[in-house]
This record gives sequence, structure tokens and C-alpha cells, in this order.
Amino acid sequence: MIYYDNVFKKYPNNAVALDGVTFSVEPNEFVSLVGKSGAGKSTLIKLLLAEEKPSAGHVYLESLDVHTLSRDELPFIRRRIGTVFQDFRLLASKNAYENVAFAMEAAGRTNEEIEADVPQVLSLVGLQDKAHHFPHQLSGGEKQRVGIARAIVNRPDIVVADEPTGNLDPQNAWDIIKLLGKINELGTTVMLATHDKMIIDAIGRRVVTLENGKIIRDEKRGKYVL
Ligand code: ADP
Repeated sequence: MIYYDNVFKKYPNNAVALDGVTFSVEPNEFVSLVGKSGAGKSTLIKLLLAEEKPSAGHVYLESLDVHTLSRDELPFIRRRIGTVFQDFRLLASKNAYENVAFAMEAAGRTNEEIEADVPQVLSLVGLQDKAHHFPHQLSGGEKQRVGIARAIVNRPDIVVADEPTGNLDPQNAWDIIKLLGKINELGTTVMLATHDKMIIDAIGRRVVTLENGKIIRDEKRGKYVL
């Protein structure tokens, strides 16, 4: 489903973020990308979202080479990928319902679709009772649940989460990971970048370990070893 083919990324300041990365992700996999800060995890994700271009190599989403798409075609792939961020990135002036609804509006959904789907997704993430709370009235864990609801509401094939637990305490972190696991069980491919050892060791799923822009380990039921 996703294929990184010998990908190199050097930033303009000459920082080498990826140094010949080849790996693929199958439909419905739950893959954790691990590695120290600076190992290249975020860069891998940005390349998939076409937020950055590779210096060499290709990134494919199915048969599409992500970096040959025109500006007009990009929204199609971005819509197939839901994104979750460490810092939540919610709109402060919108409540939980509106934050999720906004993602549907941006994707051109109708009001009927929005009214049907937003409550359903908020209930999936356990926030049905907080739909009208604004971000400042929500805990970190709840904010991230809104972030996940927003990421899945347009039914993407893939959810990409970059350090989604980085601002959470261990209990909330674990709840968020379980939620990502549930989304995966419902049929969505999940790519999780993290450096949280406890989480990785507990998940027992595929772990791809990066070091200095290279994959140094790729294990089906991996542990966090650095
Ligand atoms: P990680 O997500 O594992 O922390 P990153 O992909 O963010 O790693 O970074 C990999 C390397 O690329 C680091 O050396 C980092 O400093 C560098 N880097 C990342 N983004 C940029 C950027 N926009 N400009 C210059 N260097 C960058």
C-alpha cells in the first residue's frame, strides 16, 4: 500500500534526514516507526504526505508516485491519509464537534453527511458527551481523541500519527494507543512514529527502527531496542 523505494532526503542545510530507506507497508498493518529524536521519523511521514520532496528515490501510495502528482491531484492522496499530531492542532475557536465537522467541510461533504458522521466518530473515540467542549475545556487525552476523530472522519485508508502521545501522561498515552489499535482493527492502516519505549514494547506489532536516516531493524513483533 505504501512503498518507500531507496529514499534519500537532505535538507537545504545539508542535514541528511533519510539515507537510502526502502520499506513497504501492507494494507491494514499497524507499523511503529521508532528511533531517537532526529532519526528521520517525521521526515518519512512528511514525504508520504508530500509536505517534503525526496532528494532521491520514490514514495508510492499504491501505484501513485506521490511526488509526481500535480497540485490539483495532491488533495486526493492527502484525503486518503488521516493525520494525528503531537500538539493536537485543534482550532481553538471551534468546539470538538466543529473541529471534526470542519475536516468534513474541507473535504466537500454535505451537511447531511456531517450531521450523520460527526456524532458517530465522536462516540467511537468516547467523546459523545463532550462534543460542545472547546479545546481549552478538554484534557490533553481528550484533545488527542478529537484529533483522532478528525483524522478518521473522512474514512481514510491510512492514519499517520507523529508522536501522538508526546504530550500525554502514561495512562492517557496508553488509551490513545489502544484507540489507534481499535481503528486499525476496523480496517485502517496505521503508521505511528514514537520514541515511547513502554508503548512500543506493549503493542507487540511491527516495529521499524531508524537510526541516522537508515532502517537498522524491521521486526514483525518488535521491541524498542536502541
Ligand atoms: P525525527 O522525527 O526522528 O525526530 P526528523 O525527520 O524530524 O527526525 O529529522 C531528521 C533530521 O533532519 C534531523 O537531523 C533534523 O535536524 C533534520 N531536519 C528535519 N527537518 C528539517 C528541516 N525542515 N530543515 C533542516 N533540517 C531538518
